[in-house]
Amino acid sequence: CGVFGVWAPGLDVARMTYFGLHALQHRGQESAGIAVGNGRTVLVRKDVGLVTQVFSDADLAAMPGHVAVGHVRYGTSGGEGWEGAQPHLSTIEDVIIALAHNGTLVNTDYLRHELVELGVPFRSEVDSEVAAKLIGYFTKKTHHLREGIASTMAMIEGAYAMVLVRENALYAFRDPNGIRPLVLGELPEGRGWVVASETCALDIVGARLVREVEPGEVLRISDDGVTSQFEYQAQTLRPCVFEQVYFARPDSLVGGRSVYSVRVKMGERLAAEAPVDADIVIGVPDSGLPPAEGYARAAGLPFGEGLIKNRYVARTFIQPTQELREMGVRLKLNALRDVVEGKRIVLVDDSIVRGTTMAQIVRMLRDAGASEVHVRINSPEVRFPCFYGIDTGTQEQLISASHTVEEVRERIGADSLAFLSVEGLLECVAPMDGYCCACFDGRYPVEVPPSLERHSFL
Ligand code: 5GP
Ligand code: SF4
Ligand code: MG
Repeated sequence: CGVFGVWAPGLDVARMTYFGLHALQHRGQESAGIAVGNGRTVLVRKDVGLVTQVFSDADLAAMPGHVAVGHVRYGTSGGEGWEGAQPHLSTIEDVIIALAHNGTLVNTDYLRHELVELGVPFRSEVDSEVAAKLIGYFTKKTHHLREGIASTMAMIEGAYAMVLVRENALYAFRDPNGIRPLVLGELPEGRGWVVASETCALDIVGARLVREVEPGEVLRISDDGVTSQFEYQAQTLRPCVFEQVYFARPDSLVGGRSVYSVRVKMGERLAAEAPVDADIVIGVPDSGLPPAEGYARAAGLPFGEGLIKNRYVARTFIQPTQELREMGVRLKLNALRDVVEGKRIVLVDDSIVRGTTMAQIVRMLRDAGASEVHVRINSPEVRFPCFYGIDTGTQEQLISASHTVEEVRERIGADSLAFLSVEGLLECVAPMDGYCCACFDGRYPVEVPPSLERHSFL
């Protein structure tokens, strides 16, 4: 998912959020929503579909205010359709809040159970709603939203980057491992503040990157400016390495470094680890292009455009069913015969998860006359499921969880296949360290499943 928040009295915050979500559309295409605080209350509009499908000009004009949050959804835990759309609106006595969440919470089953015992009603199956209801519960108890957020953060486990709006303030907070990204930006001439999943969403509204929100940090942005409070003594930054491999937009900065440059470097490293005799290097658009460029440069081979992408088709991986996913590849990509015919090809892509995409692309290239297809993947084998908000599928669906590299090669029909090593990947994303690489190495930063008794609040 993608989240965005803005505090900017005097500006059209609903429209700015719309633009911010537009820049984050690659992070989720199932639903979109915006909540605006106008000093008195909070208004929400959300629906299934792309940002441009959900909001008309009139919708945005109908949401004046000075503080807003927004969300684009890529579902990983329950609640398909409207139910899963965010922000979640909650009423706490006379205060209305709206919450938007990127990530996945791993211990909401029993927390939901306890809230239900206390008589708190639920509308969806989504983990984020549990967080919204917990914030409400603890805010009522302590009479302070800040306390409500702090107590909730002490209860929930997993990955979260959250933005929350009430009638007169914006809050942004991140889990103690900082697994999902969140950045703070400033608008020019002191006109306000922006928080977003990625820096590309700051760029689109003309905000300057100030810094990343720290693990375990709660930011409150209001008339009093930006204040920061830390909910955890020991914070360990364990950001998701997959953001660098696939999820983030190449024009974003992660850990202060260009994602594009990091991906080029992964390709260079891959060329050193897994060289092959070939005529041309091509990348699978879009996320395979920068590493293909790096591979070609390091190998001294020409870099060519062998696959053309239809710009108007959403990411295939995000289509929920296998049939749609298989259809999706051909809707999205076509081989360029002039470039590939009679050639020995190095084909670079960011990842193999289920293996569906790659098998079809290899077939497509052979049909277009490629004489050899050598597949190079700029990430290691995905052998473990993600529990923190990236839908890499269950263990059974992951082709590399149950197949050797040679077996995967055979399945996808390639002449050779190689993955970037974990060490190679980590070298490319250095000097920042501590990355979560659990989908590659199985070392989860947050216990899964979580310990149950510890946090009971009944
Ligand atoms: P597969 O067909 O092997 O399951 O999917 C791999 C392809 O899906 C890659 O081309 C990758 O760019 C794309 N992809 C889209 N979304 C995701 C995601 O959330 N995780 C991973 N690993 N790959 C994704
Ligand atoms: Fe990212 Fe993989 Fe960790 Fe999930 S398991 S947070 S995809 S690195
Ligand atoms: Mg891809």
